[in-house]
Amino acid sequence: MRCTKAIIHLESFKDNIKAIQSFTKPGTKMCVAVKADAYGHGAVACAKAAVSCGVDFLAVATVDEGIELRRAGIKTPILMLSICSPEEIPSAVRHSITPLVFDKEYIALFDKAASQRLLPKKFPVHLAVDTGMGRIGCQPEEAAEIAKYIDSSKSLKLGGMQTHFAVSDSTTKENRAYTKQQFTLFKKAIDSVRNEGIDPGICHCANSAATLDLPDMHLDMVRPGIIVYGYYPDMINKTYLEKKGTPINLKPVMTLETEVSAIRSFAKGKSIGYGRTWTATKSTEIAVLPIGYADAFFRRFSTAKVKIAINGKPYPVRGRICMDQCMVDIGQQNDVKRWDKAVIFGAAEDGALQTAGDIANLTDTISYEITSAVTKRVPREYVD
Ligand SMILES: *Cc1c(COP(=O)(O)O)cnc(C)c1O
Repeated sequence: MRCTKAIIHLESFKDNIKAIQSFTKPGTKMCVAVKADAYGHGAVACAKAAVSCGVDFLAVATVDEGIELRRAGIKTPILMLSICSPEEIPSAVRHSITPLVFDKEYIALFDKAASQRLLPKKFPVHLAVDTGMGRIGCQPEEAAEIAKYIDSSKSLKLGGMQTHFAVSDSTTKENRAYTKQQFTLFKKAIDSVRNEGIDPGICHCANSAATLDLPDMHLDMVRPGIIVYGYYPDMINKTYLEKKGTPINLKPVMTLETEVSAIRSFAKGKSIGYGRTWTATKSTEIAVLPIGYADAFFRRFSTAKVKIAINGKPYPVRGRICMDQCMVDIGQQNDVKRWDKAVIFGAAEDGALQTAGDIANLTDTISYEITSAVTKRVPREYVD
């Protein structure tokens, strides 16, 4: 196996799910987001682990992601969070992938595909309501009419209703008011459907942030993603939750590691890498690591603030991170040897000094973007 690899701690993943389950009200369903190959952690392994914890739904973004889970033998309901193309619809129906719908054209395409399959039961769809995210969903005041349209279709039924929050990870007064307003609009939309005598099915709106911080908004099901992988959503962090009295100890599931592939001596004045952005100001030793931006160690991490852990000590990256390799300054006198393990981010038990969330904070991005960019060429090693 390539030494640059992602270690996936499935036990931590399950612990995170159980921790979340233990503070949602009994009976609250859970839909775990395993889109984007489970945020880079491997969809099939994570989905199976989630199912073993008794989760009720898995969420994907695309039909292909759903099919991958079905081919792996997963029978749990799958919710598809993005809109697929018309040509994928028959396949979505064949694999029992529950779509989010919000307009008559798309609903009619699903109805046609479901009718052609002569299913024994009506095919469930979830109605998306746009209460302020501005992505997909009908207007709240259209919900009743669209629900009626679904309800009177030949082969579909309303299985649930959903909305998605834009700023639930922010605790500022203004953003909290916005989230509350989104929730109020959603509840009104649900009521308007009920008033038509239609059962709205499973109602859900809480992403990770709302799951942790807004228990009044859990409704029938929560829809966490990033927290099951062990990262806190922005302002809803560990300190905030401790202060609030609802502490939760999330464990980072992924460790990204590599090893020192070479050690090179640098005399004062010798430059490093593309663009020659760093020059040794005194003689030093440089460790070369076989990891680069095509392995989610992004070029913009070429900052002295991002440190790599070798034998538990932090060392700075020098020069620009390349596609497949990078260079780290290990100084003159140290205990680093060739083939020593170097940890980019991850669990402390693996020798990491920072999580993907910490690197994200240093480099103006979010943990989601880092882990989900761990590409197929980084082998994953699953440990329990
Ligand atoms: C990705 C996604 C989630 C999960 O979001 P997190 O912030 O990772 O919890 C929930 N709902 C929808 C609609 C999503 O697209």
